[in-house]
Order: sequence, then C-alpha cells, then structure tokens
Amino acid sequence: MSDVLALRGAPIAETVRAGIADDVGRLKASGLEPRMAVVVASNDPATISYAEAKGRTAAKLGVALDVVTVDPAQGQAALEGVIAELSADANVQGILLDLPVGEGLQAEPAIDRIDPLKDVDGLTSVNLGLIALGREAEAIAPATPDACIRLAEETGSLSGRRVTVVGRGRSVGRALAPMLINRDATVTVCHSKTPDLTAAIAPADVVFVAAGRPGLITEAHIRPGQVVIDAGINMVDGRLVGDVAPAVAEVASAITPVPGGVGPLTSSLIFANLVRAIALQRQGS
Ligand code: NAP
Repeated sequence: MSDVLALRGAPIAETVRAGIADDVGRLKASGLEPRMAVVVASNDPATISYAEAKGRTAAKLGVALDVVTVDPAQGQAALEGVIAELSADANVQGILLDLPVGEGLQAEPAIDRIDPLKDVDGLTSVNLGLIALGREAEAIAPATPDACIRLAEETGSLSGRRVTVVGRGRSVGRALAPMLINRDATVTVCHSKTPDLTAAIAPADVVFVAAGRPGLITEAHIRPGQVVIDAGINMVDGRLVGDVAPAVAEVASAITPVPGGVGPLTSSLIFANLVRAIALQRQGS
C-alpha cells in the first residue's frame, strides 16, 4: 500500500471489547452468567474452526459459549428443533447459526427459529424487518454490516455520501444497504445481474464489497480518492483473501485489509450484540 489509509479492525475491536468486558462484569455482579450458543450444522472444517475461534474470544470476555453441532445428515427438522430448544432455554441469552449450513439444509427457516431477542447476528426476519423499516434502534443489527459501517465512518460520517454496495447476500449486503439508507447515505446496490460494475461504482465516495468472489474488484473499477471496504472472506491456495485485488490499495484513499479489516471487528460486535440482547430481554421488548 502506498499513501493509502489502512482501515484496521483491531483498534476499534479493542475498544468494543473493553466495553463488553465491563458490561459482562456488571451482568455477573447482578447474578447473570452470559451464555451464547453457536450452532454449527456443517462438516466444513473452516466453519467449525470459526466457531471455535468465537469460543476463544468468549473466554477472554468472560462469556460462556457452547458450540452446538448438528450433523447435516440429521436433517432440517433436527436443526430447527435444536434452535427452538435454545430459543426456549432461559440460560442461553444469545444464539448464532454459523453460515453456510451443510448440504441439504435450508438456512432461512432455521434462522427464523432463533428468538429475535437472542439473535446476536441480527439475521432473523424480525431484526432485518425493523432495520428495513428504519427502526434500527429497536433491532439487533447484523455484526458484519455494522463492522463495515464503523470502519467506513473512520473516514467521516456517511450522511449525504454516495455509496455503492457490491453484493446483496444474506450475511452482508442485504442488511448493509438499508443500514446505509438509515445513515442518510445515497445507496446503489450491485449484484450478479448488474451489467456494468465500473459504472455503478464510479459515482461512489465509499465502495462496500461483499460478493464472496476473490479479486472481483480490481484497480480498473476504482478511481483515486474512493474508500473501499472489503467484507469478502475467501480461501485461495490456503491464504485468506478478500473480494478486492491488492492493487486497489494503490488507487483508493482508504481500504480495509484482508485479513485484519472487517473480520476482527465483526467477531467483537457479535459479543456487543449479546450484551444488547440481554438488555432487550430484560426490557421484555
Ligand atoms: P452471498 O449470500 O453468497 O451473496 C453474494 C452476493 O454477491 C450476491 O448478492 C451475488 O449476486 C453477488 N455477486 C456474486 N458475483 C458477483 C459479481 N460478479 N458481480 C456483482 N455481484 C456479484 O454472500 P454473503 O453471505 O453476504 O457474504 C459475502 C462475503 O462476505 C463472503 O465472502 C463472505 O465470506 C463474507 N463474510 C464476511 C464476514 C466477516 O466477518 N468479514 C462475515 C460474513 C460473511 P446475486 O444476488 O445476483 O446472486
């Protein structure tokens, strides 16, 4: 990277984690032991290792975390049954279903088995619906879009800025677009049917990329001065890479590195959402 500003997740994540540790201390002093369940319904080693990584973060924060595995061969009913049980369990305050789920399983109905007040990844239709309606203050916001926005805001408020989101996927783009509208940005959303990505990206002050396509965005798509937020996580030849080619760092004014940008902040925001979920549960909203 030349003079580009590297938007790193770790410093913001550190501040977020300090706040969470204080909140967890207060909750424990009040007699509540925060507990989160991560449901893994996949045989993919990467998915299992991400779940275990969340366990290590939880341990540092004093949060109990259970990794609950469901063999995809057990089927949809078993997966939904496990999530329904966790939703009804008063000792569990947060539930997250790791995506993607294994072959033969459907994520959508399983996500909606999560009690919206325990939905620490903010992906249930209730939380996404509130966000789409502009009622984000009542919702639990999805952690990855939240991380993308916090990193972009390191370069200034998004109000009145032109932004382009590449990807309308379940984990990132679908929620990121209305969250940006809620912050008064002017939003363009691209997807696989967008005929000319370069033209859609050109007017943007900030470009968010979440397509799950390594190197999709190159220096040919980006003009000098644009801020680039890369949420992509792809394994290529055993290396973690984003959706944005490394040469973009020579053109953009600021960019999130992969690894080290959106990912580390997302992992901390999941636990911030657990604290928020507990507050909402106590209000009974
Ligand atoms: P997804 O559901 O697989 O959706 C991918 C989106 O990209 C779709 O909307 C698709 O368009 C669009 N797309 C694919 N090829 C394209 C192209 N050539 N041009 C324009 N758009 C294209 O993705 P997701 O679950 O939202 O995840 C997106 C990325 O974020 C993945 O790399 C994922 O690993 C990563 N992620 C990162 C974190 C983190 O903590 N950093 C967390 C979660 C996910 P269509 O809708 O037309 O198919």
